[in-house]
Order: sequence, then C-alpha cells, then structure tokens
Amino acid sequence: MAALLEVNNVTGGYSPSHAVIKNISFAVHPREIVALIGLNGAGKSTTIKHILGLLQPLDGSIKIAGQSFQSAPDSYRLSYGYIPESPIYYEELTLWEHIELMAMSHGLTKEELSKRAELLLREFRMEEMKNRFPQQFSKGMRQKLMIMMALLVQPPLYIVDEPILGLDPLGIRSLLTWLQRCKEQGAGILMSTHILATAEKYCDRFIILHKGEIKAQGTLDELRQFTGLFGHSLDDI
Ligand code: ATP
Repeated sequence: MAALLEVNNVTGGYSPSHAVIKNISFAVHPREIVALIGLNGAGKSTTIKHILGLLQPLDGSIKIAGQSFQSAPDSYRLSYGYIPESPIYYEELTLWEHIELMAMSHGLTKEELSKRAELLLREFRMEEMKNRFPQQFSKGMRQKLMIMMALLVQPPLYIVDEPILGLDPLGIRSLLTWLQRCKEQGAGILMSTHILATAEKYCDRFIILHKGEIKAQGTLDELRQFTGLFGHSLDDI
C-alpha cells in the first residue's frame, strides 16, 4: 500500500550549521497509528515541524500523498490534520468561528460542517463553550478546540504532537478512540509521545528517536528486546 507520509533521509534543524535531526527515514501508511517516541529533546517536535513544512530539510525529502511541500505548498497543507502540542488560536474568534474557518478553508459544505461539528462538540463535551472565546477556556479546553478543528476536516493523514498532555481522562479516551476510528476508516496517524503506556495500547508501530537519530523502528514485538535507548527494554519502562 502506498505510504501517506514518506520521510526520506532527512537531516534538519533550526540553522544550516547545526543539524538537530540526522538522516531520519520512516513512513506512515493508511490504516496505521505510528508512535514517534523519545525523551525530552530527542527531536520529535523538530521532526514534526519539518513534516508540516515549517522547517526546510537541510538534506533529504518529505512527501505527503506523493507531494512535497516545495512543489505544492497549498495542497500539501490541506492534506494533513495537525494537532499541536500547544494550542494556536485567534483571540478575536469564538470556538464556533474557529470551526467555521477550518471548514471554509477545507471546502466543507454547510451540511458537512453542522453534522460533523455537532458530533465533535458532543464527544468532547464542548457544546456550552460554542460561543465563547478560547481566552476564556482552560488549557484542556483549548487543546480540545485544536483536536476538534483537526478532526473536523477528516484528512487522510493526522500529525499529532503530544496529544494527551493537558486533557482529562474523558478527553483522552475521546481523542484516542476517535483516532482509532479514523484509522479504521483508512487514515494514517503519526503521534509523538513519551507516554509509553498510551503508545503501546493504541499504536501499531513505533519509531524510537534519540538525540535526533532513529535508533529503532518496528512493531512492539520487534522492539520488545530493544535495549539501546534507555538501557532497558520497552517492557521495563
Ligand atoms: P519534548 O519531548 O521535550 O517536547 P522533543 O523530542 O520534541 O522534546 P525538540 O523540541 O524537537 O525535542 O528539540 C530537539 C532539539 O532541538 C533540542 O536540543 C532543542 O533544544 C532544539 N530546539 C528546539 N526548538 C528549537 C528552536 N526553536 N531553535 C533552536 N533549537 C531548538
């Protein structure tokens, strides 16, 4: 099956003289959740910034559905849904206006918007916040807004950076079961996390990043004996 996301021999970082990620390669296919795992500072967010097109690789290439950011930036941006680690929002727009803006930028019909938004608002228990501004939200509520905006447009690929930090247990369950459903319907999901218990429960494959390099990748069984990163096997962590 053709990959949704292909990262090929990518070296990159924040300045040409200093590579933060080094020669990394991996793919995400339809119907799989792939965990990007690593300690603080391993390079997970830097990898994601390259995939989003926010940083240009110093070397190597990245493709989403066969397209690179450089060749078609607009359609590239529309082909993934991004759930950021820290919420990004407009102070002057209400929750509902954020949802409408997202729907408009992705060409959703009014019917698609109202049907999908209604389900999401109910699932994430945010109906009462619809006409309020994100500034009046708690951190977890702002995170839920980011999640709803990404899920609304039903992209083929989801890129999720530390998704469960700041969410309450019901929010975590809603997000992970919703992503599971997206996967069953054909989506591919790349999820960065350092919470191994969550990754083990929900992810099909694992990429272990350490000091900007991929130390191992594979299924849980393939990695069970892996001891190179923390000095422990995954079972011990
Ligand atoms: P965490 O789990 O703490 O979020 P991470 O695996 O996402 O960590 P990154 O944020 O990608 O790690 O950081 C990798 C390296 O890049 C670190 O050494 C960090 O100091 C550096 N770095 C991150 N952001 C910048 C930046 N804006 N400018 C320069 N260096 C940065």
